[in-house]
This record gives sequence, structure tokens and C-alpha cells, in this order.
Amino acid sequence: MRDASVRVHDGRIVAIHRASGVAQPKGTEIIDGSGLFLAPGLIDSHVHLGEIPGMTSEQEAQHPDIAKAARQQIPRSYLLYGFTTLIDLISSPQGMARWKSHDIAPDAYFCGGAALMDGYPMNYAPKPQRYQNWPYMLIEPGRQPPEGIDPATHTPQAVVSKMKSEGAICVKTFFERGFGGVRDLPVPKLETIRELVKAAHAAGIPVLMHANSDEAQRFGLDAGVDIMAHGLWNLYQENSTTSEVTPGIKKILDEELERKVGVQPTMQVLYGIRDVIGTSFLSDPRLPYVLPSGLIDWYRSPEGQWFHEVVSQGMKLPTDASPTQIEHALNAGFASVIDRGKHVTAYLVARHGRILFGTDTPSAPTYANPPGLNGWLEMHRLVEAGETPAQIFTSATLSNAQALKLDRDIGSVQVGKRANLLLLKQDPTQTIDAYAAIAKVILNGRLLDPSELAANAR
Ligand SMILES: [Zn+2]
Repeated sequence: MRDASVRVHDGRIVAIHRASGVAQPKGTEIIDGSGLFLAPGLIDSHVHLGEIPGMTSEQEAQHPDIAKAARQQIPRSYLLYGFTTLIDLISSPQGMARWKSHDIAPDAYFCGGAALMDGYPMNYAPKPQRYQNWPYMLIEPGRQPPEGIDPATHTPQAVVSKMKSEGAICVKTFFERGFGGVRDLPVPKLETIRELVKAAHAAGIPVLMHANSDEAQRFGLDAGVDIMAHGLWNLYQENSTTSEVTPGIKKILDEELERKVGVQPTMQVLYGIRDVIGTSFLSDPRLPYVLPSGLIDWYRSPEGQWFHEVVSQGMKLPTDASPTQIEHALNAGFASVIDRGKHVTAYLVARHGRILFGTDTPSAPTYANPPGLNGWLEMHRLVEAGETPAQIFTSATLSNAQALKLDRDIGSVQVGKRANLLLLKQDPTQTIDAYAAIAKVILNGRLLDPSELAANAR
């Protein structure tokens, strides 16, 4: 609409008039949007809010001041880039309560993480602590349950009903045999995930699956999941060196298109690993806006470089290599997976696939997935893959809202919906730069000035 007045009351949109300067009830605060674009707030449907990017919980305990400043800033950084709603794909009521305790924070929802017992990504936590961390894990029949755990409470039906009663709006499950040094993790049986999907659909909630290979996405399709939580960039079933869309991949993608399966390309997952080994990321001039300076300084310290060390050792880069040699080896090492992810995204985009905007921030303990900014970086990757700004805008608003069944409340500027809004200086259907310098963010009716949300503002 060209000229409009949007009235907000008690955090909701209560009226929209097709004219500017409409008389409003006495006492109404008027925000002049002349020359600006009013858009719904963005939704990132794949984040992890429990961790500070690049910092383990042990390191957080050792640096409480740095961590405290980081945790206060993270919600603001998402808002700075226009994200007013976040979906944490593996959380709990406790995790959500912690997030909501901040004075300013985007709305957040969560999926319960239905990982297979001892499979990915539970395997990263030591036993027996991992069983406490994963209240919705799946235990298949015939498997020996951990001490003190009743397997009857970890069937697909039981975990879905538990997470739903605890407030989850979705189920996240996993098909991953491993990467890096680990390649033989147990994966769920097809019938287990079919049961999980059946139980979730009976409860009215969608199922997302961690699936980034041909094998995993084939499995996800056979199990009937609703959303692939990653792009397809690893090839395990097909023996091919090309990064183009092979006949095998095409078959999978065509089925995703036909069945309108949601796909989150999550290209920043790959860049987040690549850039943690690169030498220039921490000098990015945009970082001081989204991260406190104390945290950036810590990332530069030997301790803060721990994940850089892990990844470089995994890549077997020569220890005496120059920064240029490292950069070169990295680009070569990541080129084919990144290229395949790009080609797959382009294939789906060109055929009007159900692309859902999700960043997977942070996808690993990498500092190269900074809150808020990572979303904007993801948009650049999507543009490179052929998605238009208009398609990105829809995928980060209404498409996400519909896929997560939140469209009664968010996803568009409509009477009755929550007043999560952005005032933009540029048209977001024309350029993703619209999100780089937002004029105003409105969160549940509360007016926020981006200059006050920046990490270096205070
Ligand atoms: Zn994730």
C-alpha cells in the first residue's frame, strides 16, 4: 500500500487505513513513516539461543563479565538487523525463560530436539550428562536405556506429547552419521521417524530434520518430515565430483518441490566454518555493532581461538602456512560444498520451492556466525544463489510464519497480528540493503531505535 496508517494498541495491529494522516484517538503517539517502508519484522526459523557463539560453557564460567555483556547484547543484535521472531530448534522451557528474562529480546519459540540416543548431536556431550541435556531424546526398542531412564518416556509418541505440553511448537530431529573426525554415529530407523512425524502431525506441530546430504534428505522425504533444516551439500550416495545438481540430487529436489517440503538453505553454516579459520573475519567493520568489544578481544586471544584450532587441525593445514596460503587452501577446500549448496538453492529458487529463511546461528561453536549480522550475511549468499530480495523477504516473513504455524500472529502487516514491525529506508522487495540501516524496529508495539540497540552505542 502506498499511503497508509497503521494503528497499534496493546502490542497488536488494531486498524489499517488506506490513507495517511487519519485522525487517531486522543493520546495516540504518532510515528511519522513518510518516505519509509513499513514491513513485518523478520523471522529466523533456525537459531540456537543457548550459547554465545564461539564460547563453551566452561569458558563462559571463566569469563563471567565478557559473557554477561555478550548475553545482554545478543537479543539486541538480532533486532538491529530486523529479526523480531526467532525459532530455537533445540531448546526447552528453561532455555526460553532465560531468553525472555532480557529487558529487550525478540519473540522466541522452540522445537524439542528429538535426537536418537547417543546419535548426533548428543554425541558431543559427555555421558551421562548428555541424557539430562536431551529430555526429548528417542530410545528405539531393544536399545539399553541409560540408568534411571524409562524407555517408555522416550518413544516418538512420548517425546512429542512431552515437548508439546511444555510449549514446543515444532519437533527437530536428525539424520547425521557425522563429519570431521566422527563418521559412524548411529542414525534413527525409518519407522522411528515415521512414528515421530505421525505423532507430531497428530499434535498439530511440524517436524524439521537436520539433513544436509543426499542420503539424509532422501531419508527425510521417506519419513515425511515437513522441513529440511539445511541445504543439500554433501553427497554420500552418489559418487560425483561435480558441484552441479546431479540426476540423483534432482530426484530428491523434485520430490521436495512436488510435496512442498520446506528447505532452509543455511549457507552461512559453511561460511561460518570457513571464516573461523580465515584471517580477516574479526576485522569486519560490522562486528563492533553486534558484539561487545570485550568479546571480540577475547575471540582474538589464544583461548578464544580454540575452535579455529580444532577446525584447522581437522583440515590438516600446514602449521607454518602464511595467511595467504591458508586463505587459498580454505577457499579450495570449501569451494565444492559451498558451490553445491548454491546450485541446489538456485534449483529450488528457480522452481518456486518452499524456501524458508533460517541461518542456524551459531551452527557450530564458531564466532563467524554473529547474531543478527549472520542473517544479513545469509541473505547475501541467497542473492548469490539467485534468490531475489522479494523472495528473501517472503521467506523470512510470511513463509516462515506459515511453515511454523505462527501466521495467525506474525508474518505480515495485518489487523489482529502482533505489532512486530520494521520501518525501512529502502524497499525490502528491491534490496536486502533495506535491513542494513533500519530506521525503527517495533517489537510488540514497543518502539526501538536501532542506534540504541548496537553494541557500540552504550
Ligand atoms: Zn542448527
